[in-house]
Amino acid sequence: MGSMFESSPQAPFKVLVIGGSYGGLSAAFNLRDLCSGRAPRCGEPLAEGEAPVAPMQVTVEITIIDERDGFYHLIGSPLALASESFAEKAWVKFDEMPALHAPHNDDVIRVRQGSVQAVDPVRKVATFVARGAGLQTEEVRYDYLVAATGLRRVWPVVPQSLRKKQYLFETAEHIRAVTVGRYGVVVVGGGAVGIEMASELKLVYPHLKVTLVHSQDKLLSAEPLPDNVGGRALELLMDGGVDVLLSHRLERTEEVKDESGSVGVRVHFDNGDSMLADHVIMAVSKSVPTTTFLPKDVLDGEGYVRIQPSLNFPPETPNAADHFAAGDLVRWSGIKRCGAAMHMGHFAAVNVHQRMQQKLSGAEPKFSKLSEVPPMMGLAVGKKAVAYWPEAGMTSGEDVLKTFFGDDLGFTICYSYLQLGGNKSS
Ligand SMILES: Cc1cc2nc3c(=O)[nH]c(=O)nc-3n(C[C@H](O)[C@H](O)[C@H](O)COP(=O)(O)OP(=O)(O)OC[C@H]3O[C@@H](n4cnc5c(N)ncnc54)[C@H](O)[C@@H]3O)c2cc1C
Repeated sequence: MGSMFESSPQAPFKVLVIGGSYGGLSAAFNLRDLCSGRAPRCGEPLAEGEAPVAPMQVTVEITIIDERDGFYHLIGSPLALASESFAEKAWVKFDEMPALHAPHNDDVIRVRQGSVQAVDPVRKVATFVARGAGLQTEEVRYDYLVAATGLRRVWPVVPQSLRKKQYLFETAEHIRAVTVGRYGVVVVGGGAVGIEMASELKLVYPHLKVTLVHSQDKLLSAEPLPDNVGGRALELLMDGGVDVLLSHRLERTEEVKDESGSVGVRVHFDNGDSMLADHVIMAVSKSVPTTTFLPKDVLDGEGYVRIQPSLNFPPETPNAADHFAAGDLVRWSGIKRCGAAMHMGHFAAVNVHQRMQQKLSGAEPKFSKLSEVPPMMGLAVGKKAVAYWPEAGMTSGEDVLKTFFGDDLGFTICYSYLQLGGNKSS
């Protein structure tokens, strides 16, 4: 079943993007570029002598719905949970995002704050609750949908606030709690998140005692990476002054009071060891896809969207060709990364634009298709980083930190790549 816009090519196509982070913003801004006849911002640069091809201009209205009131640089969480000044920088309210307010935008992209509850691919309607509307739901009709809602991550892996103001309180309170500075902080979990949380705390507060504990005998043990990556991460952590306890599985924590009546935590491990801490940070939870609003039959058993290489929903879904998913919520090969989410958002934009052209001119669509992605990772460990990708193998050092993260855990790299500051064509 189609929407009313199919029979009326002059009417703007309505595109709904659910989730306004790396995947969703990439889809929205690349699509706006294409629909205004410009090369997409995340496209390949032209080869020498290659003539640019102007994409077909199409009238479009793009609505982004996000639960947050801004773009939150999720990758920067370990630093946002250690530094109040960085926390301020890591959240850019949509109201203040230059790329959304440049004259060029001309209301092509609008952002609504709210939570999507259901998507009906037959009627092409999404139901959402706008922020502040209580239980009252609204419906949004669309011609094309891009779902980019990522994974649900628990505190303190990621701040849970949905408004910047509240988030700044949340991060400041956490920073106060972890920097008491008597016994120090214990970070539980030697995966990527735990390693970055421990190392950023130590970097920002060099005098704070920071201990990373991990149940296995090597770090990054759950990742499909060669052992030398975890081994190098361990060396960098220790160089940076973080104490590391391997083969220490947390059994329980117990609140204790010292002679002065101050409260601390005794951390017990299953090998009988124990230690005192001011604060324990759990960095071990499994994140789950935020896809409960989608029909069950487009999901796999774990809740990931079973996309096709074109990022379309599974072929048996009603109107599958008009429904896309991009970012962490999809089932695809490779470790979940923001670079992959932005890449998928770009491909989703190209493919939505191809579908629009097909509707308007009958042109056979040429879809961009995802290739399989091998495991790869960049991990900031204090003043250095360790990275792995198949062609280069494992690399590490200050230069690797600069390349992968700049000097702000990748904020400027992502912000510039998506041109959220409104430079160039935005
Ligand atoms: C601590 C940490 C460190 C990381 N470090 C790195 C790193 O160094 N390099 C790297 O490449 N990757 C890193 N990652 C992974 C990276 O953050 C993810 O791959 C990336 O965020 C995926 O982007 P996304 O757009 O798919 O989803 P997300 O960034 O999760 O964004 C999803 C958006 O959807 C919104 N949303 C969710 N549900 C709904 C709903 N029902 N209605 C409306 N809106 C909704 C959310 O508010 C959010 O804005 C890290 C992750 C964590 C947690």
